[in-house]
Amino acid sequence: MKPIRQTDAELAPTYASRDFARSIPRDRVPHEGMPADVAARLVRDELLLDGNPALNLASFVTTWMEPEADRLAMEVLNKNLIDQDEYPQTDEIHRRVVSMIGRLFHAPDDATPVGTCTVGSSEAIMLGLLAHKWAWRKRRAAQGLPADRPNVVFGADVHTCWEKFTRYFDVEARVAPLSPDCHVLTPEGVAERVDENTIAVGCVLGTTFTGQIDPIGAIAALLDRVRQRQGWDIPIHVDAASGGFVVPFADPDLAWDFRLERVRSINVSNHKFGLVYPGIGTVVFRDASDLPEELVFKISYLGGEMSNYSLNFSRASAPVLLQYYNFLRLGMSGYARIVGNIMDNAQYLQERIDALGRFRHLGDTRAIPVVALTLADPSEPPETLDLLSETLRERGWIVPAYPLPANAQEIRVLRAVVRENFSRDLAELFARDLEAALAKVDRLRTVHRPPVSDDRPHGVC
Ligand SMILES: *Cc1c(COP(=O)(O)O)cnc(C)c1O
Repeated sequence: MKPIRQTDAELAPTYASRDFARSIPRDRVPHEGMPADVAARLVRDELLLDGNPALNLASFVTTWMEPEADRLAMEVLNKNLIDQDEYPQTDEIHRRVVSMIGRLFHAPDDATPVGTCTVGSSEAIMLGLLAHKWAWRKRRAAQGLPADRPNVVFGADVHTCWEKFTRYFDVEARVAPLSPDCHVLTPEGVAERVDENTIAVGCVLGTTFTGQIDPIGAIAALLDRVRQRQGWDIPIHVDAASGGFVVPFADPDLAWDFRLERVRSINVSNHKFGLVYPGIGTVVFRDASDLPEELVFKISYLGGEMSNYSLNFSRASAPVLLQYYNFLRLGMSGYARIVGNIMDNAQYLQERIDALGRFRHLGDTRAIPVVALTLADPSEPPETLDLLSETLRERGWIVPAYPLPANAQEIRVLRAVVRENFSRDLAELFARDLEAALAKVDRLRTVHRPPVSDDRPHGVC
C-alpha cells in the first residue's frame, strides 16, 4: 500500500489508516470505495466544521423535530413524491396537507383551495406568480389586448426569490423602495406602479429583513378602488413564507389571507414555522379557478394519470408526510401553544436587549418572532454590528448583520430569528453573550483608537 501523502487536493485522515492507508482525492470520485463506517465517519468529521444548527439564529428553518418524526422520516426516505400512482396514499396525504393549509388561510367554504407542496417558498412563489402571469394573459387575450409586457409590483422588502422570478420568467419588476423610516410596502407605493399590465401585487407577511408585515388589508382596499376606477382586476399574492404559521395563531383576527377577496394565492414555508425539516413549502390558490388549467400537466407514463403543477419532478415525500404528522400531532391548539411560547421568548429576548440600552428595535416581535436590532446611538459606527456578529460567532451563535434594502440602506441591522428550540435559557445565554461581545468590541475600539497626533512627520522615529 502507498503511504499517506497529504496534499491540498487529498483527504488523508490518519485515523482511517486503522482501516486502510491510502489517500482519497478531494475533488474526484475515488477509484476504490471504502468501508461504510469509515465513509460515514469521514463525512461526519467534515461536518464538524459547520455551525451548530441550534445556535443558528440566522435561519427561520426548522432544526428540531420529535423523535417520532425522525423515525417516520427514516421509514419513508425511499418514497418518491411524484410516483402518485405507485403511492396513492402519499398522494392523498399531499392533497390533504394543501387543503388543510388552504382552510387555515380561510379559503371560503364554497371554494376548493388547490395547490402543491414544493421544495420551499422560492419554488412556491414562482408557481404562484406564473399562474398569475397566465391568468393575466388570458384576460388580455379575451379583451383583444396585447399581453407582451407583464409587470409585477412589490416592495424592496421582499426576499430575493421575487426578483429571481422576474428574471427567470421575463416579467418586469416594479419595486417600491423603502424609506429610512418605513420598511414595508405601502398602498401609495403600489398605487404609483400598477397598470393594466400588472399580473399581481406581492405582499409579505413577515419580511426577511425586520419581520414586519406589509399592510395587506390597506393594499387590497387600494386595489379594489383601482378596479372600480380603472377596471384593472389585479390579484394579490401573499408571501407568507415566515408568517403563514405564526400569524394565524399569534394574531388570528388579522385579515391578511383569503378573507380578503383580492388575495388569490399564498405561499408558506412549511420548513419554517410549519415546524418541518427542510425542504418543503406550499403554494395554495384560493380556488381551483385561480390556477389556469394549461399549467397543470397530465402525466401518464408512471401508470394511471397524474396531474402535476411543479417545477421539479422527483423529490422526497418525507417533508410532506412530516407536515401531515405535525398537523395531526399538534392540532390547532398545539400550534397555538408553541407559537405562544416562541413569541414570549422573542419578547423576553427583546426586553433583555433593551436593558443593555445600546440598541433600537426595528420591526415588531408581536408580528413575527424576529429581533432586528440597530444601534441606538446614530453616531456609533455601523460596523459595530458586524463586529458583534463576528464576536458572537466565537461563542457559536450565528447572527447576521446586513444593510436594509434601498432606500433604507444606511440602516444596518443585526437579526436573530427566535425558533421553537430557542428556549428561555438560550435567550438568557444569548443576551449575556451579546452583552459580553459588546463590552469586548468597546474595549477593542478603545485600545485601537489612533494615538493623538504629535508634530513629528509620519515614518520618523
Ligand atoms: C424564507 C423566505 C423565502 C424563501 O423561502 P424558502 O422556503 O427558503 O425558499 C421567501 N420569502 C420570505 C419572506 C422568506 O422569509
